[in-house]
Amino acid sequence: MVAAAHLARSGVPVTVFEGGPKLSEESRASTFHPPTLDMLHALGAAEPLIKQGLKAPAFQYRSKKHGLLAQFDFGGIADVTQHPYRVQCEQSKLTRILYGQMLSHPNFELHFDSPVVDVTQDASRVEITIDRNGRTERRSGRYLVGADGASSKVRRALRVEFEGFTWPDRLLVVSTPFDFHGVIPDLTPVNYVADPERWYFLLQIPGVWRVMFLVNEDASDERVQTREFAQSLMAGVVPGISNYPIEHITLYKVHQRVAKTFRQSRVFLIGDAAHLNNPLGGMGMNGGIHDAVNLAGRLATVWRGEAPDTELDRFDRQRRLVTLEYIQNYTIQNKKNLESSGDEFRLSLQAIAADPVRTREYLLRVSMIASLHRAEELC
Ligand SMILES: Cc1cc2nc3c(=O)[nH]c(=O)nc-3n(C[C@H](O)[C@H](O)[C@H](O)COP(=O)(O)OP(=O)(O)OC[C@H]3O[C@@H](n4cnc5c(N)ncnc54)[C@H](O)[C@@H]3O)c2cc1C
Repeated sequence: MVAAAHLARSGVPVTVFEGGPKLSEESRASTFHPPTLDMLHALGAAEPLIKQGLKAPAFQYRSKKHGLLAQFDFGGIADVTQHPYRVQCEQSKLTRILYGQMLSHPNFELHFDSPVVDVTQDASRVEITIDRNGRTERRSGRYLVGADGASSKVRRALRVEFEGFTWPDRLLVVSTPFDFHGVIPDLTPVNYVADPERWYFLLQIPGVWRVMFLVNEDASDERVQTREFAQSLMAGVVPGISNYPIEHITLYKVHQRVAKTFRQSRVFLIGDAAHLNNPLGGMGMNGGIHDAVNLAGRLATVWRGEAPDTELDRFDRQRRLVTLEYIQNYTIQNKKNLESSGDEFRLSLQAIAADPVRTREYLLRVSMIASLHRAEELC
C-alpha cells in the first residue's frame, strides 16, 4: 500500500491485486520507527496513524536477574527526525488509512480476491495470472512490484532463491489487557527482558499489551497454543501474578532470509517477499516500508523518462545490502543478547548509555536511520 500510494501520487497508474477478500487483519507488526514515520508523513499517513496509536519516546532493556538495565530516549536524535519516538500501532491500521486515502485517486485501483498465481515477462511488459474464484485472468503492465509477503508467489515464479535459515524455536505472542503499568510503574511501551531460560518482550498497543516469548522445538504447536501453556509463560513475567486475562494467542515461525536479488528485470520484490527476520527490534515491516519508498521514488522517475533504467538497480543494491548488513545482523544479535543472563549485556548497555556519542550512534542504529544513511552512500 505504501508503494502503491507513493507511485500513484507521483503520477504512475497503479493496480493492486490483493489475494484476500479484504485488507489483511493479521496481528503482527506494531512498531513504527522514527524515519518510517517521516516517510509516512510525506504520504499524509503519519498523523492519522499517530492518532490511532501510542507514542513511545523511550524503550527499555531489562533482565529478570537485574531489573532495569538501561533506558534509551529518542529525544537524543530529535535533530534528525520529525518524529523522535516510536509509534505503537498495528500494521493493519496503516493499510486501511492508505486505502481510505487512495480510494478515489485516479491513478489507483485495488482488486480483492485476486491472488497472483504466475508471472512472466519480456523486454517491455510483465504479465501476471490471477485466479479469480477458479477463473484464470491475465493482466499486464510495464512493471510489477511483488509485495505479497513471506510465501511470495512472485518470488517463487521468478525462481529467486530465499537464502538464510529458519530458527527451530517459534514465537508465541500472548495479548492481554492486563495493566502492567499498575505493577511496574516505570515501564515504557517497549521493553525487552533478557533471561537465559525464558526471555520475552513486552509491547504496548492501544488497549492491550503483547507479550512475546520464544518456545523451543520440543513442545508441539497444539500444546503451546493452549491457554494453560500461555498462562504458564505469563506467570514468569511479574513475580506473584498469574491467571492473566488473555485475548489472543498466536504462534509464528521465525526466519532470517533474504532474497538473492530484489530485482529481476521488470519485477521487484519488497517487504517480506524480499526479506524475513526475527521481530526483535521491529525491523521487518519498517524495512519493507523503506524498500517501498526507495523503489517507488526511482520507479516514478524512470516511468516519467527522467532517469535511465539503471536507476532501478540502485534499489536492489541499496536495499539488499542494508537488509543484510543492518537488519539481519542487528536482529540476530538482539536475540543473542536477550538469551543471555544480562551480565555482559548490562555492562555494554551501561557503557553506551554513559557516553553521549555512543548513545547517539546507538539510537541512529536502532531507529534504522543509520541503515538509510548507509543506503544513500551506495551508488
Ligand atoms: C509477532 C510479530 C511481530 C512483528 N512486529 C513487527 C514490528 O513491530 N515492526 C516491524 O517492522 N515488523 C514486525 N514484524 C514483521 C512484520 O509483521 C512483517 O515484516 C510485515 O508484516 C510484512 O509486511 P508485508 O506487507 O511485506 O507482507 P504481509 O503483511 O504478509 O502482506 C502481504 C499481502 O499480500 C497478500 N498476498 C499474499 N499472497 C498473495 C498473492 N499470491 N497474490 C496477491 N496478494 C497476495 C496478503 O493477503 C497480504 O495482504 C513482526 C512479525 C511478527 C511475526
